Amino acid sequence: MKIHEYQGKEILKQFGVPVPRSIPAFSVDEALAAAKTLGGPVWVVKAQIHAGGRGKGGGVKLARSLDEVKTHAGNILGMMLKTHQTGPEGQKVRRLLIEEGADIKKELYVGLVVDRVTQQVTVMASSEGGMDIEEVAEKHPEKIHKLSIDPATGMSDAQADDLAGKIGIPASSFAQSRPVFKGLYKAFWDTDASLAEINPLILTGDGKVIALDAKLNFDSNALFRHPEIVALRDLDEEDPAEIEASKFDLAYIQLDGNIGCLVNGAGLAMATMDTIKLFGGEPANFLDVGGGATAEKVTEAFKIMLRNPGLKAILVNIFGGIMKCDTIAEGVITASKAVGLAVPLVVRMKGTNEDLGKKMLADSGLPIISADTMAEAAQKVVAATR
Ligand code: ADP
Ligand code: MG
Repeated sequence: MKIHEYQGKEILKQFGVPVPRSIPAFSVDEALAAAKTLGGPVWVVKAQIHAGGRGKGGGVKLARSLDEVKTHAGNILGMMLKTHQTGPEGQKVRRLLIEEGADIKKELYVGLVVDRVTQQVTVMASSEGGMDIEEVAEKHPEKIHKLSIDPATGMSDAQADDLAGKIGIPASSFAQSRPVFKGLYKAFWDTDASLAEINPLILTGDGKVIALDAKLNFDSNALFRHPEIVALRDLDEEDPAEIEASKFDLAYIQLDGNIGCLVNGAGLAMATMDTIKLFGGEPANFLDVGGGATAEKVTEAFKIMLRNPGLKAILVNIFGGIMKCDTIAEGVITASKAVGLAVPLVVRMKGTNEDLGKKMLADSGLPIISADTMAEAAQKVVAATR
């Protein structure tokens, strides 16, 4: 789950990471009031969307007067902000953060992720902050310093200082950077984050170390123990189909193609998408209905998939283990009838109650194309889109 920069900074602050003074705003009037409360002489008006690269896209503007705050707030609120992380249509800006202008001497980078190989949290830090860290990783991998943290001990002062030194923070500022690194690690750990990124982390003219941006993602499997984080969810930033799917506990990801996929099991779903691509097709979604789905859940999954206006054909690929093929057939039939299925439907079923499922589909009167192997199913569904 993702949150906004202003929410991330609020969390970091609680863990002792210094952030600039700032106030979120939902309207131009609120932006002006926030700027007055903060006092000048320099403010930064920042679009709040769940995507990075806002600065380059025109969503972060410096203001030197209240008039400029008003102008920028008016321009940014409601705009479709396009960044390399939004789709080509951009993301609508509904919230702003009004922040005091910082005296930036140097822009640095620090990010935390869970490393599955070491089974520890890896801290990555670089002297090259403010820009695309992916580009730094590609062109100057030597400028990214990594540190693995032992969960039993957490981050030590010595580790924090060593990292600070490597990214060009002077020793005179170590007392400032220590709470940043240690607080960020503690915040990551305590909130069950999956990603924490401060880009840029800045060194100010007077030697302070401050988080100027904040990106926190959380492990959705751990949200049950963090109601305070669930409360930060902003549904405006999420895909409506994915929100609907999450209500039914379905793993659904919207994609750009035109072939809807309904599969049980994440691995089979991935393999199905690969097979479709192998035969020249493009999947419209990833959908794993899970191992023990009910007919009702399958029906909802089918409906969500059918809402996609770009859909040209559907492939249902089921391996009946715990999931029975007749359960899938029942869901497919109910949903197809409820929504008036208007695109070709290819079904491949194997396993438990396969014959019963196939018979139900054949008796339903629906124009279903059946297939025996995955390759045959993929070829038939790709042909059906043409
Ligand atoms: P994004 O990563 O989405 O582009 P950032 O919050 O990192 O957004 O802001 C982009 C750039 O804008 C920063 O790298 C920094 O140079 C500048 N900036 C952001 N906040 C401030 C601030 N409070 N004071 C001065 N400059 C800022
Ligand atoms: Mg940034």
